[in-house]
Amino acid sequence: MADVQMGDAETFAFQAEINQLLSLIINTFYSNKEIFLRELISNSSDALDKIRFESLTDKSKLDSQPELFIKIVPDKINKTLSIIDSGIGMTKSDLVNNLGTIARSGTKEFMEALQAGADVSMIGQFGVGFYSAYLVAERVIVTTKHNDDEQYVWESQAGGSFTVSRDVNGERLGRGTKVMLFLKEDQLEYLEEMRLKDLVKKHSEFISYPIYLWTEKTTEKEISDDEEDDKKKEEEGQVEEVDEKEKHRKKKKKIKEVSHEWELINKQKPVWLRKPEEVTKEEYASFYKSLTNDWEDHLAVKHFVVEGQLEFKAILFVPRRAPFDLFDTRKKLNNIKIYVRRVFIMDNCEELIPEFLSFVKGVVDSDDLPLNISRETLQQNKILKVIKKNLVKKCIEMFNEIAENKDEYKKFYEAFSKNFKLGIHEDSQNRAKLAELLRYHSTKSGDEMTSLKDYVTRMKEGQKDIYYITGESKKAVENSPFLEKLKRKGYEVLFMVDAIDEYVVTQLKDYDGKKLVSATKEGLKLEDDSEEEKKKREEKKASFEDLCKVIKDILGDRVEKVVVSDRIVDSPSCLVTGEYGWTANMERIMKAQALRDNTMSSYISSKKTMELNPDHPIIEELRKRAEVDRNDKSVRDLVLLLYETALLTSGFSLDDPNMFAGRIHRMLKLGLSVDEDETMEQDAEGMPPSEEGTEESKMEEVD
Ligand code: ADP
Repeated sequence: MADVQMGDAETFAFQAEINQLLSLIINTFYSNKEIFLRELISNSSDALDKIRFESLTDKSKLDSQPELFIKIVPDKINKTLSIIDSGIGMTKSDLVNNLGTIARSGTKEFMEALQAGADVSMIGQFGVGFYSAYLVAERVIVTTKHNDDEQYVWESQAGGSFTVSRDVNGERLGRGTKVMLFLKEDQLEYLEEMRLKDLVKKHSEFISYPIYLWTEKTTEKEISDDEEDDKKKEEEGQVEEVDEKEKHRKKKKKIKEVSHEWELINKQKPVWLRKPEEVTKEEYASFYKSLTNDWEDHLAVKHFVVEGQLEFKAILFVPRRAPFDLFDTRKKLNNIKIYVRRVFIMDNCEELIPEFLSFVKGVVDSDDLPLNISRETLQQNKILKVIKKNLVKKCIEMFNEIAENKDEYKKFYEAFSKNFKLGIHEDSQNRAKLAELLRYHSTKSGDEMTSLKDYVTRMKEGQKDIYYITGESKKAVENSPFLEKLKRKGYEVLFMVDAIDEYVVTQLKDYDGKKLVSATKEGLKLEDDSEEEKKKREEKKASFEDLCKVIKDILGDRVEKVVVSDRIVDSPSCLVTGEYGWTANMERIMKAQALRDNTMSSYISSKKTMELNPDHPIIEELRKRAEVDRNDKSVRDLVLLLYETALLTSGFSLDDPNMFAGRIHRMLKLGLSVDEDETMEQDAEGMPPSEEGTEESKMEEVD
């Protein structure tokens, strides 16, 4: 094959970036050159996947070469190594485009990564694996035959250009591709059988097509002179059958016999077909890596067989890290490879696993799906729905297994809790099971996080509900006024401080028969201890009815209503939202989203109820003043300040922080007994000059 007779060769220039990449590959020293073989085998495997997939709907596509294989041929005489596959092959234009003229999007990124110190072994992830051939070869010839075209030859010694020509006289491939590497003088180790076998074992063990190595056996045999002539005529490999007696009768002579044969070097059954107890942790790890290109081991694995009316085998993995593009909706799901009776079908079947489990990787091999299934019919297949249901179930089991180890679970939770929280929101069937996986900090959990299950075991006698508060961070919620009464009663409150928690609690209404109740919403009913206390409360409420009305009049549309609170102990007031409306936190989340414009914000903002603490001296004082004169100006100013501070402590944001600051500054001046006139000239706050009058009227102006 080294001297192929070619038709008229056309010369093409490599696209600029590819050319740069080639120089980088050729001129930089990399110690990890061996990965070239993995890359070429992986290309072959992809090409085989493609023809296999086409053949599912049109069997005749395989006629040109019915067998699917990868063959490796080292040739010590010509110092070449060939990788041959019976995959889909390339047409002439595929050759020109794929191997040189059209830049892959990853080309530039890969070069940048390399220059930043990335390992050359990452080349495959950037979609330019083919060029790794030049790590070990000075010249490469690619011969290829696609069903839709003639056989073509591509050749290049790098150096800026390649040629493509029709292969007129070369050995016929039938269908597929042969990549022939003319090894550099210092890379001849890749002709050694042992080296090649080890490499395939190391990097390509899980390729699901047979990989054959052209092996050479040299045997030393004693044969008689008479036999020698016959021997030459005999076929290779039959030397062993020399009759012992005959041998002794005649004159002996030693000769070397060289025989060749194809040796299957990836004998291992696919991992998922083996018994789980027979697969080692290391084998799972290397299978996981070959499946995902991850450089780290998996965090958890679940290997199982489902039997009954439907049968399939599967291995699922949880990675250690979330990918950077976990929630990129443009990215296609391709984390579960689906096989039908050992035959790869596809790896981007959207119906196989729900979106919230898109971080789970693995393989599914079904005996029940028809082999000749098309992508479209597969998507609607009923069997697939059953498989999906089972996969979700097994995933949840696997997560629960991770939860048995606290440290591992912490890692898992950090990386993927958003996913199963999304699952709680979307998957009503598995909601209850997924809820078991939740962990939160709470008023009683300290540094650890607690599960709902543990929360329930700590519930006080008489406590009926599970309490939670949503907010921006643990810090922002742990001292919230909403928790005062709950804390005093010894009721634990969960801190839900992930934005997605707001969505979780819209769907997760209860756990273990206990209602999940927001500490910041209306309708928080805490049982009072005694009848007597209840009565006292009612009386108190009645005496504050008037103040509530006065405050509502002052605040106008800012609040829905004003009521006496059951939930605050130390703070004078707080703002709660409707039981079915948005919390302050949800309002914050929605405001942060792009759709915010003014019309939208008035429409979306939460309906607030102001709650007053009747036991607080400020509220008591207000009540007294309002009783004397409901139009008292100081009451109006203080109410506005009270409202604004309640906004802040309840997790809302101020509509007009300057106005608020103005009010506070006036209070400061009052507190410091600073005369307004003296300071006005230097006043940097841009406060409007005040008129002569009482303190009250001065405060009134800034409103
Ligand atoms: P990637 O395989 O990641 O796309 P490569 O640089 O390895 O990138 O290969 C470029 C393209 O060349 C492939 O996408 C494929 O279309 C084609 N190709 C490479 N090797 C083969 C092969 N053995 N058979 C068929 N096509 C191949």
